[in-house]
Amino acid sequence: MSSNNCSNTVAVIGAGAAGLLAAVTAARAGANVILIERTSDGGRKILISGGGRCNILPGHAQPQLYVTDSSPNTLRKILRSWPLHEQRAFFEHELGMPLELEPETGKLFPASNRARDVRDILVARIREAGASIWFEASVVGLQPDSGQWQIELENAPSLTAACVVLATGGLSVPKTGSDGTGLNIAEALGHTVHPTYPALTPLIADPHPHASLAGISLTVSVNAPGSRPAFSTTNGLLVTHDGWSGPSILDASHLAIRGKKDGSRQELTVQWAQVDAYEWDQKLQAEKGTVRSTISSLLPRRLADQLISEAEVDGATRLSQLRKGDRKSVVETLTQYAVPWTGDAGYKKAEVTGGGVSLSEVHPATMESTKCPGLYLCGEILDAFGPIGGHNFLWAWATGRSAGMNAAAQLA
Ligand SMILES: Cc1cc2nc3c(=O)[nH]c(=O)nc-3n(C[C@H](O)[C@H](O)[C@H](O)COP(=O)(O)OP(=O)(O)OC[C@H]3O[C@@H](n4cnc5c(N)ncnc54)[C@H](O)[C@@H]3O)c2cc1C
Repeated sequence: MSSNNCSNTVAVIGAGAAGLLAAVTAARAGANVILIERTSDGGRKILISGGGRCNILPGHAQPQLYVTDSSPNTLRKILRSWPLHEQRAFFEHELGMPLELEPETGKLFPASNRARDVRDILVARIREAGASIWFEASVVGLQPDSGQWQIELENAPSLTAACVVLATGGLSVPKTGSDGTGLNIAEALGHTVHPTYPALTPLIADPHPHASLAGISLTVSVNAPGSRPAFSTTNGLLVTHDGWSGPSILDASHLAIRGKKDGSRQELTVQWAQVDAYEWDQKLQAEKGTVRSTISSLLPRRLADQLISEAEVDGATRLSQLRKGDRKSVVETLTQYAVPWTGDAGYKKAEVTGGGVSLSEVHPATMESTKCPGLYLCGEILDAFGPIGGHNFLWAWATGRSAGMNAAAQLA
């Protein structure tokens, strides 16, 4: 097959969040950039993010909440390379896209509330900076070749580039273009890929004991007893037609999924209201009325009825007649409810992929591979993900910028 020789070029593979940032940064630094993207328009996860509004960044960085099998210190070092306030300033002042903080969630969104604007402005700035974008071009292989890189494309001549930014994402939501090819390429080049797993994905149950409650959403606390490091979050839970979702469940899902993989079961327990066991115990002793009226004063009635029935107590019982053992059972169900999940929604619905290329195999200051000089890695292909709330874009922007900046510097 003939070859396009662009030996003074930075080739960025993948036009997701990380690749778009890498391409705009490298092109603005004066590099000749070719951005290669399998889909017809790129940035498809950006388009579906934040319910179509794109939660572009968190209001507060929380590096301690990221998950990795690599060194958490390396992860934090990478995150520090582009602090949140600088990222925000970049979007607002350099790209000209005002952001707004949603006070109730602490998340940042574009003021337009349109995810498409985020993708489109990045693509436009990449073009303005003189980079080429090749859509509907799929990379199938990558080989070092006498200090350069041969990039093999599907049904097209291969391309030679001086350096490569690999920003192909993980395995989550394959219809957005990420199918793990990039992970295979990195592995074939000698990188360690930590086992991957779906993360930030709904949990499901078959049979689903709460199917009749689908649509109920409320703020709960979720705990993972015995997990290391300890896990606890207070956030939204949504009962779906086949299980449970919402930020609290999504943030805890990797613990259940990973436990399941190694044959053990990591319980996730729910406290259904912002009332702890002691307070419920007091309420159930001190208040007047029935079990049902007391519980449904703080929970949706249908959920209250379901939980009372699972506690095997008659909701019509007057509190003055509630036996101690029944009170204990109700309190436990209300505060330490073990979610009866039997599976998860997998990569099809996972917002991110856990695992990936080991962080020990990138230089944290440049994102260049320690195995393959001239190869830079960024975004979800790496072994790191953060919780719901803009933390995953923060990772993609930070690593993408660093990869693009340092790839361009290599050519200068
Ligand atoms: C439904 C959903 C909602 C989300 N909401 C948020 C949110 O609001 N806030 C937040 O912070 N995070 C959110 N995330 C997570 C966030 O979208 C990802 O962390 C982020 O997009 C990862 O960026 P990436 O560039 O590393 O990978 P990706 O976005 O997966 O991009 C990889 C790109 O590479 C291309 N590609 C892959 N292989 C090849 C190949 N062989 N050749 C050429 N091109 C290739 C793909 O087509 C794709 O465009 C959400 C994710 C999902 C699925």
